[in-house]
Amino acid sequence: MPKETSAFRVIVVGAGVAGLTASHCFQKSGIDHVVLERRSEIDPPEGASIAIYPHGARILQQIGCLDAAQEKCKPCVHFNSRWPDGKLLFDDPFFDHVRKNHGQDILLFERRRYLRILYDGLPDKSRIRMGATVKDVKQTVDGVEVLLSDGSVEKGDIVLGCDGVYSRVRNFMWDHADAVSPGRVTGEEKAAMKTRWKCLVGTGPPEPGLGERDMTVVHDRGFSFLALTQPNRSFWFVFFRLDSPFAWPQRANYTEQDAEELAATVADHHVSDTLVFGQLWKKRDRGMLIPLEEGVLKHWFSGRVVLAGDAAHKVTPNIALGGNSAMESVVVLCNQISRMMEENGGIKPDQGTLERHLKAYQDEQRNRVWFIMKFSGLITSIQAWDSPFTKFLAVWVLPLLPNRFLALSLGLIIRTAPRLEAAGNSGVETWRNKVESTVKNRFDILRTRKVVGAFIVIFLVLCLSLRR
Ligand SMILES: Cc1cc2nc3c(=O)[nH]c(=O)nc-3n(C[C@H](O)[C@H](O)[C@H](O)COP(=O)(O)OP(=O)(O)OC[C@H]3O[C@@H](n4cnc5c(N)ncnc54)[C@H](O)[C@@H]3O)c2cc1C
Repeated sequence: MPKETSAFRVIVVGAGVAGLTASHCFQKSGIDHVVLERRSEIDPPEGASIAIYPHGARILQQIGCLDAAQEKCKPCVHFNSRWPDGKLLFDDPFFDHVRKNHGQDILLFERRRYLRILYDGLPDKSRIRMGATVKDVKQTVDGVEVLLSDGSVEKGDIVLGCDGVYSRVRNFMWDHADAVSPGRVTGEEKAAMKTRWKCLVGTGPPEPGLGERDMTVVHDRGFSFLALTQPNRSFWFVFFRLDSPFAWPQRANYTEQDAEELAATVADHHVSDTLVFGQLWKKRDRGMLIPLEEGVLKHWFSGRVVLAGDAAHKVTPNIALGGNSAMESVVVLCNQISRMMEENGGIKPDQGTLERHLKAYQDEQRNRVWFIMKFSGLITSIQAWDSPFTKFLAVWVLPLLPNRFLALSLGLIIRTAPRLEAAGNSGVETWRNKVESTVKNRFDILRTRKVVGAFIVIFLVLCLSLRR
C-alpha cells in the first residue's frame, strides 16, 4: 500500500458495493478516508444475487479480491430464453462468449456474500465505521463536517455519497447547489430517478428445473421472470410494469402482504418446462417486493459533496450492470483525486482545483452510465414485451441473431471500462491486451450508439425479409 498523502481526507457515506470499493481504491492510492455505514452488519441477509462482469472482475483483481471471489462461485453456462408457457425460445452460450471475448468469467454471488468478500479483502478494516448514520453535512470554507446520529462529527475535505438510491447526501448536495447557485439543479433533474417497474426478488434452495449454473428469462406481456442458479442456491426476480409510473420524490414502500398478493397472481406461471413460480415462492429463504428506479443525474457534485453509485446513477437490474457501474464510478473518482494530489504536489487543493477534478470525474463517467441505463432499460422492456416493438425484438429478432450478439453488445461496455490507475498495469491480462488492440479512445457514446443502432436495423431488415 502506498504511503498516505493524508493532506486530503474523504468522508465516504455508505458501505455498500460503492463504499467498500471506494475504501479499497483509496487504500491502494494512499488517500486518507473513513467510511460511515448506518447498519451494524456489513452483510445483512438482504437482496438476492449480484453478477460481476469482466470489467468489474478486473477492478476486483486490481484491489486484490479476485481470487477470493472466484473461489466462491461457479461460472454460469446457459442463458435460456422461454415462452410464457415455459417452452424454450432459445438457448444462448452467452456466458462462454463473454469468457472467450474477455478472458474472464461473469461471476455470480449471493449479494451479502459479495459484500463480505469486499470487506474481508480490505487491508485496513478500521476505516469502516459501522452503526454510523449520517444526519447532516455542512460545507465550510475549506472542508466538510459530517454529523452522525450519536452526536459525533467527522471532518474531511469532501463527502462522497455512496448511500444508495434514496441518498441523503444527495439532498445535502442539492441544498448546497440551491444556496450557491439557485436554479442550477432544476426540479426536472431532481425527478431524474423514475420508477416504471416493480420486482419480486428472492432466493431459495437449488432448483433442478432451472439448471445448476444457468440463467433463465421467461417472457410475458408486461412482466417477465429472471432466474439465476448456482449448485447450492437459486436467485429469482419477477419484473412487473407499473400501471402508473412515478418519479422522485415519490417513493413506494411495499409490504409483505403486497408481495404475497402479487406473487399469488403469477403462482401458476411457468418458469421452465417443469416448474411454476409458486414452487419457487413457497420454498423461498427470503422474498420481497421492491420498486426499481432508473435514472442518471446531470450534476454529480456541488462544492465539496460528490456522489457515486446508485445515488447518482441507477439502472434496472435485468442485465446486471448497476453494481459494476457503481464500482467503475468510484474508480474514476479515485483516479481524479490521485491525479489532483499529484499535480498539487501532495498539498491540499484550493476549491477551484478540487471542483475541476470533480467535474472531470462527472464528465468522464456520466455519458457512459447514461448509455448503460438506456441499454438496461431496453433489456427490461424486451424481456417483459413492454410494447409491440420490444415484443417483436424478443420474439423475432433476438432468436435469429447470431448467438454471440448479446455478448458482443455488452463487449462495448466491458472493453471501454475504466481501471484503477494506482494499481498500475495489473488487471486481467488477456482482457487488457484485447482492450488495447480494439479500443483507441475512451468510451465514445455516439459511435457506440451508431454501432448498436446499425446492428439493430440490419437485423430488423434481415428478420423481415426472412418472414416474407
Ligand atoms: C434486484 C436487484 C438485483 C441486482 N443485481 C445486480 C447484479 O447482478 N449486478 C450488478 O452489478 N448490480 C446489480 N444490482 C444493482 C446493485 O445492487 C446496485 O447498483 C449497487 O448495490 C449500488 O451500490 P451502492 O453502494 O451505490 O448502494 P447500496 O449498495 O445500496 O449501498 C448504500 C449503503 O449506504 C448505507 N446508507 C444509506 N444511508 C446512510 C446514511 N444516512 N448514513 C450511513 N449509511 C447510509 C446503506 O445502509 C447501504 O449500506 C441489482 C439491484 C437490484 C435491486
